[in-house]
Amino acid sequence: MKLKKSKTYFKVFLRKMFYTKGMRILYVEDEQFLADAVIHVLEKSGISVDWVQDGVEGLELATKPIYDAIVLDIMLPGLSGLDILRDIRSRNIQTPVIMLSALSQVEDKIKGLNYGADDYLAKPFKTAELIARLRALVRRPPIADDKYMIFGDLSYNMEEHSLNGENLSQKESSILEALLKNPEHIISKEYLLTHVWGNEAKGEENYVEVYINHLRKILLNQNCKVKIKTIRNMGYKLCSKD
Ligand code: CA
Repeated sequence: MKLKKSKTYFKVFLRKMFYTKGMRILYVEDEQFLADAVIHVLEKSGISVDWVQDGVEGLELATKPIYDAIVLDIMLPGLSGLDILRDIRSRNIQTPVIMLSALSQVEDKIKGLNYGADDYLAKPFKTAELIARLRALVRRPPIADDKYMIFGDLSYNMEEHSLNGENLSQKESSILEALLKNPEHIISKEYLLTHVWGNEAKGEENYVEVYINHLRKILLNQNCKVKIKTIRNMGYKLCSKD
């Protein structure tokens, strides 16, 4: 699936966020012929793919906390794959990244890994090889089964919207689910706002603060070993207290 605009992205995202059980990746590749072939095989393996051809668009999507992994070509129009990688790592976004390059030169590989790539695949590659590496890389949040999301001593029941047995409001649940989907990752306030309240809530970031505080009180009352940390000017992350 190719995503052109961020509006489309949000629609697709809101529809799929909690209904897609498989892996979801961002694929930034300008060569259509190659991309078509790779996407076909990935989707047949149950991996859902958001594909963009341009580096600038790639960076915009790569900053969103919704991907299990990012597959980045190096030579791209707009911004190179290495630029995208450097940018997201400098923002402390730790989504696993596999770099692709037609140049199987050692310097390229070293540069990519130095910038924080998790793996490197030289073109041409077999899609089966890419899938194997993606599976090896992606550490899914520990979900016990289809009903629970678990992190540290938090056990969230997705059907009953309850945290360690305590019922949550719909908005508290939506925020917690977004945090639990990517524990130890920064989730932006803007993202939470759009995710929970939709686009009409633009500029009302204090809604998020209010509900984050509700959730903090609940965690405190339950004496949880997990906290919601504020990352100044960036957002929040769910992390262990120690
Ligand atoms: Ca290219």
